[in-house]
Amino acid sequence: MSSKEINTQVCIIGAGPAGLIIANILFKYGIKCLVIEKYSQPEIYARSRAGLIDYKTVSILQEHGLSDRLLKIGKPHGKCEFRTPEQSFVLNYEAMSNGQTHYTYPQQELLTDLIYKFQLAGGQILFNTQAETIVNERYGATVSCRQGEQELIIKSDFIAGCDGFHGVSRAAIPDAIAQPKTVNYDYAWLAITAEAAPSTPHIIYGIHPRGFAGHMLRTETISRYYLQIPVGDTENDWSSDRIWSELQLRLAKDNWTLTEGKIIAKQVLTMRSFSTQTMQHKSLFLAGDATHIMTPAGGKGMNLAIQDADVLAKSFVSYYRYHDNLPLRNYSANRLPEIRLSQDFSESLLHMINIQEGDNSEEANLSKLLQKFKLSQLMNSHTTAQEFARNYVGYVDTDQAPIKPPTANKYLLPSVLGLKPHPSKTTFLALSS
Ligand SMILES: Cc1cc2nc3c(=O)[nH]c(=O)nc-3n(C[C@H](O)[C@H](O)[C@H](O)COP(=O)(O)OP(=O)(O)OC[C@H]3O[C@@H](n4cnc5c(N)ncnc54)[C@H](O)[C@@H]3O)c2cc1C
Repeated sequence: MSSKEINTQVCIIGAGPAGLIIANILFKYGIKCLVIEKYSQPEIYARSRAGLIDYKTVSILQEHGLSDRLLKIGKPHGKCEFRTPEQSFVLNYEAMSNGQTHYTYPQQELLTDLIYKFQLAGGQILFNTQAETIVNERYGATVSCRQGEQELIIKSDFIAGCDGFHGVSRAAIPDAIAQPKTVNYDYAWLAITAEAAPSTPHIIYGIHPRGFAGHMLRTETISRYYLQIPVGDTENDWSSDRIWSELQLRLAKDNWTLTEGKIIAKQVLTMRSFSTQTMQHKSLFLAGDATHIMTPAGGKGMNLAIQDADVLAKSFVSYYRYHDNLPLRNYSANRLPEIRLSQDFSESLLHMINIQEGDNSEEANLSKLLQKFKLSQLMNSHTTAQEFARNYVGYVDTDQAPIKPPTANKYLLPSVLGLKPHPSKTTFLALSS
């Protein structure tokens, strides 16, 4: 087997949202980087996943000149409905967060944009290239990859580990340092994508004694649905007829029709939340699902991945442009509070919309009471509704909004991290031991 060596400044493992955002930002600032991705380009485009892009994420994409198509094709989205068999109410969260909205835009479309922009600028993504082992040292790292019959050795100053939950990056940080924590929830969802026009202009969270049913938006012709299903069920237990009749039942409302269509994908999702207690070790920095995953409730996964990537990329820029390594040293500390808030939000929404199995247990009865209470608080308390709205939309405090991309001086960084150039500083502090 032949072997080839490549040297770069930042080796990015994974061409998901996190890796591609980092790649685009680094390239814009003239920092050498390389993306390696184990799948082919068509395989990446075929994965149907997130679709709800929050306001903070849109601001980040706009700041880096990566939002053109999203703002053109994506749809702003500022209302969601909570529907039970007895009642329904629509929460206008846009009105409660100074006009800030989500955009509905499929993750594959965003990946298409990010790959296109990066390659157009001259960036390099090595598809069909799988990272196998990482040697992580205090100053520099080496990634060994397989590309068909060829072995690639990539030497870099830093690794951005953006290879998702099942990648190799997290495993390169000893558990005693990463301290991974997992919470498994007793719920399972069937995620369904269908060729059906949306039946409402907003998302519906259906809370029904038979289980949660969700109606999400994607495009004019494609919609996404979720059904809470018994833990242990497989995709084969759910025929198209069964899916539609259950969605019709759980989402039923007077004078409203659920449009059906051809089901083009279905996938069982087990609900769990996972996170490491640090996102960095020596020369390796984790972003996105490699360091935290949450349930799809609240649509925070991809948004957090992009927000991590933005902070990490700016920290690299600060290091290379201004010889300031403090943002890199503080990367985990900067990101963890926001990640915890999102985990908390997602968990709280999850419990509010799902029905606990085992109908008559005391635990199930208490959970039903809490669920009713939470829902009524959301309907009746402005404070609760506003807090929900801002967490949900990814509220950006407008005084601090980091919108403007660098113009006059192309190396000028936005002040979101409080970054200041230190042109005279030449001694780099160790990043971590
Ligand atoms: C059904 C579903 C619905 C979702 N809905 C939402 C939503 O509405 N909103 C939201 O914000 N989030 C949502 N998410 C979560 C979101 O999709 C993820 O959080 C997001 O993709 C994370 O991005 P990432 O870049 O960290 O990781 P990924 O997107 O997983 O990308 C990692 C990349 O690394 C590659 N890779 C892995 N191992 C290696 C290796 N060894 N070598 C090279 N490459 C490797 C993978 O092939 C992949 O391309 C959803 C997820 C699912 C499954």
